[in-house]
Amino acid sequence: MINAAIEDLLNDHQENFMIPANVVANVIDTNNLYHAFLVLTKVKYAKIIVLNCDGKYEGLLSLSMITEQMLETETIDVEKLKHIQVKDVMQTDIPTIQDPYNIERNLHLLIDQTFLPVVSDDGDFTGIVTRRELLKAVNHLAHDIDSVYDITKKNENLITKF
Ligand code: AMP
Repeated sequence: MINAAIEDLLNDHQENFMIPANVVANVIDTNNLYHAFLVLTKVKYAKIIVLNCDGKYEGLLSLSMITEQMLETETIDVEKLKHIQVKDVMQTDIPTIQDPYNIERNLHLLIDQTFLPVVSDDGDFTGIVTRRELLKAVNHLAHDIDSVYDITKKNENLITKF
């Protein structure tokens, strides 16, 4: 369990935790990889969200998944990308979350992911929670906790291991 005082301070940044779906770059699962390559290069992200044509979440696509497809033994075949769909190579085993404000769970998951897709029970994509935004909240906590709480060490001889 996260300490209640710490959770309280982290929540000062709650309104920034989720980047809403309408400003999150995405590709459609039936797009070809040539189109996806252009989108990823333009937005300058290494990984983006894949939706289906109904706006439901399907998975994630990274630049490396695309480049892997165009690599031949000694050349690069960009034309090949026109014949492969996003859904053929996308990643579907990334954890998704329903609650962008569940700090304890999201902090755990963001150790291994740079961002988490927020997906409702019925598959609607509502946004992403990024490691960067949660780290900003942690930074605020580290700098400002003394101005809000009195912290004293319980036992000077106690060595606490994290
Ligand atoms: P950041 O922590 O802001 O660097 O974002 C981490 C990752 O989240 C980025 O590398 C992208 O894969 C993804 N991301 C962040 N913001 C957006 C966005 N507006 N649209 C699409 N993907 C995003």
